[in-house]
Amino acid sequence: MSLLAAPDQALVQALCGGLGAAQRRALAKAITLIESTRADHRARADALLGALLPHAGGAFRLGLSGVPGAGKSTFIEALGMFLVGRGERVAVLAVDPSSSVSGGSILGDKTRMQQLAAQDSAFIRPSPSGGALGGVADKTREAIIACEAAGYGVVIVETVGVGQSETAVHGMTDCFCLLQLPNAGDDLQAIKKGVMELADLVVINKADLDAAAATRARAQITGALRVLRSHAPEAGGEGEEGSWHPEVVELSALHGQGLPAFWNAVLRFRRRQATQGRLAARRRAQDRAWMWERIDSGLRERFRTHPAIAATLPRMSDDVQAGRLAPSVAARRLLDLMSKTTTD
Ligand code: GDP
Repeated sequence: MSLLAAPDQALVQALCGGLGAAQRRALAKAITLIESTRADHRARADALLGALLPHAGGAFRLGLSGVPGAGKSTFIEALGMFLVGRGERVAVLAVDPSSSVSGGSILGDKTRMQQLAAQDSAFIRPSPSGGALGGVADKTREAIIACEAAGYGVVIVETVGVGQSETAVHGMTDCFCLLQLPNAGDDLQAIKKGVMELADLVVINKADLDAAAATRARAQITGALRVLRSHAPEAGGEGEEGSWHPEVVELSALHGQGLPAFWNAVLRFRRRQATQGRLAARRRAQDRAWMWERIDSGLRERFRTHPAIAATLPRMSDDVQAGRLAPSVAARRLLDLMSKTTTD
């Protein structure tokens, strides 16, 4: 792209055409640029993304969520090693809502996945920190593009089972997988219904601790999912044949047991998605939703920082609260202020 400065052109070359450690360095550098909040960096990152986009889209994007302690990092390490052993190149990204809120992090521990991190075919990046969840998720989506341009065949996006982050990760992956503990079935209420509805696959981890409990959990969750899905508009819309009933797989990430069965379930899901044209449709819908989400948050930001609005808002807000002004009228007047000065 002509907009790219010479050093960034070299970065694109090293990222798309490079090999080994040099390529990983280029990828890390590109993601650092993407994550930067500086305005000049943003412009460079936008140009960079424009150059990378034609090389992106080739990976399988696997989302993974589970409460802290469910075994996400143990699972990703085991799955990553399994995939690397099969000749895959694996990138791991994260969306950590805790790091965006407090600067602290549930997922960012550097000692995680050490074995996988040492592999030439693996790339692991902690969650970007700072900003609202929307901003963090946005950077991760852009980082996916960079990983795909670098030729990673599987991109795993991990998140914790708190807040809205599951919805964000579901919205950027081809297959969303929920990691559960063997006792999950005993207390189905504890599993947030909204999150269960997002799952394309469910993993009961730590099956080694209590095999009977894991099998019970599997049956209970399978039953619960069947009920949920039969009410879901997406499943109904495609008819019985087309709808996917999420598979529930038991495994032990710690002992590496059950990984081939898990991966086969992923491949079955992937094949189904591809043959029914659902993968392309899902990605198109995700891209559209991503754009609108960014437009919404950009408009909000502009609204909040608009000088005339900032000067008027407190008074109008008081008037609304005191019952002197209808909320709808206040909203219209404030929005009018925004459009007036932007078209001037
Ligand atoms: P995360 O917070 O979801 O990333 O969870 P971790 O991967 O850090 O795992 C939390 C704890 O559970 C660690 O002590 C792991 O060793 C342990 N763990 C993870 N998977 C298994 C498993 O399959 N079986 C058993 N027994 N322990 C596991």
